[in-house]
Amino acid sequence: MDNRKIRIIIAGPRGKMGMEAVKMVTATDHFDLKAVVDTKNAGKALQDIDGQPALNIPVYEDLAICIHDTGADVLIDLTKPESGKKHLEIALENGIRPVIGTTGFSDEEIGTYSRIAEEKGLGAVIAPNFAVGAILMMKFARMAAKFMPDIEIIEQHHDQKLDAPSGTAMKTAQMIQDVREPMKQGHPNEKEDLEGARGGDYEGIRIHSVRLPGLVAHQEVLMGATGQTLTIRHDTIDRSAFMPGVKMAVESVMKLDLLVYGLENLME
Ligand code: NAP
Repeated sequence: MDNRKIRIIIAGPRGKMGMEAVKMVTATDHFDLKAVVDTKNAGKALQDIDGQPALNIPVYEDLAICIHDTGADVLIDLTKPESGKKHLEIALENGIRPVIGTTGFSDEEIGTYSRIAEEKGLGAVIAPNFAVGAILMMKFARMAAKFMPDIEIIEQHHDQKLDAPSGTAMKTAQMIQDVREPMKQGHPNEKEDLEGARGGDYEGIRIHSVRLPGLVAHQEVLMGATGQTLTIRHDTIDRSAFMPGVKMAVESVMKLDLLVYGLENLME
């Protein structure tokens, strides 16, 4: 990579994450925001849209045309699951490196996109969680699970979230399963008098999902052993928490020639 600025397109600039990304990219000296991709407002500039910053950045609705016109290096996608997948494909087809923050990718889809990225020799990042602290929480939980394998997860999110449990809770449980055998927890004869009281069951790890207004994204991993408990907790207080991870992904994707799934794999 030469010393010139990394030229960036952001998809979803009016969204809560997209607005933070516009701020982060325009505040970073070695990043250059070339254009944004929105569901509407094609032909306008960002500054012409209500509530958007005073930036003379062109707005497109069609990503392929946007890539063609701007010759950008990286696409940051913070839209919604279906668009994230579509934009990932268009980015790879058109030779631009995608950094995708949407969730909902199956193992099969990750396999397919990995093969495309490898064939093209193009870097790509899919990161369901850009919060560096949340990645550390998962890593610490995996480390501790070797020694304290009785574990329950409580995740808490705002009440607009559609899926449960969160992708982060599932990922945490999967990372823990890498280091412990599936096991039943609690009393062998326990029964629920109220359905769901013991939470979801992932290979014996119980996952509890709380949804309330006022929350952003929070997770506790609770571990118990004889005479002691250990709690590992992460709180996302504001969406700006995700931006150091987005920045890291953009810088890393320029040096990659394959697809990396999960920010944890850029933090080794
Ligand atoms: P949001 O406020 O609903 O914003 C989504 C934005 O994307 C909206 O402005 C929407 O426009 C736009 N959009 C949808 N489809 C599009 C398309 N095809 N082209 C261009 N723009 C499109 O949601 P958010 O809270 O910012 O979250 C955005 C995404 O990031 C979600 O998928 C969320 O799950 C994910 N997320 C990821 C992380 C992470 O760490 N990886 C963290 C938080 C959230 P319309 O309103 O016109 O549909």
